[in-house]
Amino acid sequence: MDPRIDLHTHSSRSDGLLAPAALVDLAAQRQVQLLALTDHDTTSGCDEAQSACDRHGIRFVPGVELTSLWRDREIHVVGLGIARDHAPFIAHCAGVLELRRERIRAMGQRLTAAGLPGAELAAEALSAPAPTRAHLARALCSRGLVATVQAAFDRWLKRGRPGYVATQWPDLAGAVQCISAAAGVAVLAHPHRYQVSNGVLRTLVEQFKAAGGVGLEVSLAGMGPGDADRAATLARRFELAGSIGSDFHEPGLPWRPLGRFAKLPDRIMPITARLGV
Ligand code: MN
Ligand code: MN
Ligand code: MN
Repeated sequence: MDPRIDLHTHSSRSDGLLAPAALVDLAAQRQVQLLALTDHDTTSGCDEAQSACDRHGIRFVPGVELTSLWRDREIHVVGLGIARDHAPFIAHCAGVLELRRERIRAMGQRLTAAGLPGAELAAEALSAPAPTRAHLARALCSRGLVATVQAAFDRWLKRGRPGYVATQWPDLAGAVQCISAAAGVAVLAHPHRYQVSNGVLRTLVEQFKAAGGVGLEVSLAGMGPGDADRAATLARRFELAGSIGSDFHEPGLPWRPLGRFAKLPDRIMPITARLGV
């Protein structure tokens, strides 16, 4: 049987529900042999995850998922094998976390203007170490203002809805270079989720590669066969290594389970070869 690996996961240090050690316990139950923790714009959970992986005999890769902007779109870059003590990397993450806090405060004000208890919702979200829209969504849910997290996004929080605020994230090339400078390997996250034409996606991948990008997620939970084919074609064309992950956030979502079989499409170099694991 192919081993299981997962190089894209979230803990409660960003918008996941499980503490890093609990995430690792679940990974062990699911026979994951190689695991990266890639919280949004923070590596604060990596020490805890590393210790838990050591206890379970799982190989651990310290990671991050940086938020960036390219042509006015939010693009995510996973960084694997990050040197967490690299000062410019730490400063980059601190800057993004401050942007996140400002955004949540501004979204709270928008929600207040729309007749909701925006200050309370924002305060609850801001108690998280890396506050995200998911935290606002959960706060809306827990007050019974919406039925589900998805409904919170659809009604209030996504682009075009009353609570949405756009943010000037660092640009894509800057995020890639920040990861590379910290000895990390930059992987373009979930290419199938950017709502762009094939031509624009190709340009994105080309510019990502030109900035120093190394990998592309070609096997991610939730990718359909067509998405996977497109990602594999792009990886071959731009000679990017293929990465595998779940983008796991919580145990309650059976369509995004932790751990994926380490099987890549033909003629794709595995990202593990670039990580030395
Ligand atoms: Mn997330
Ligand atoms: Mn993402
Ligand atoms: Mn993610």
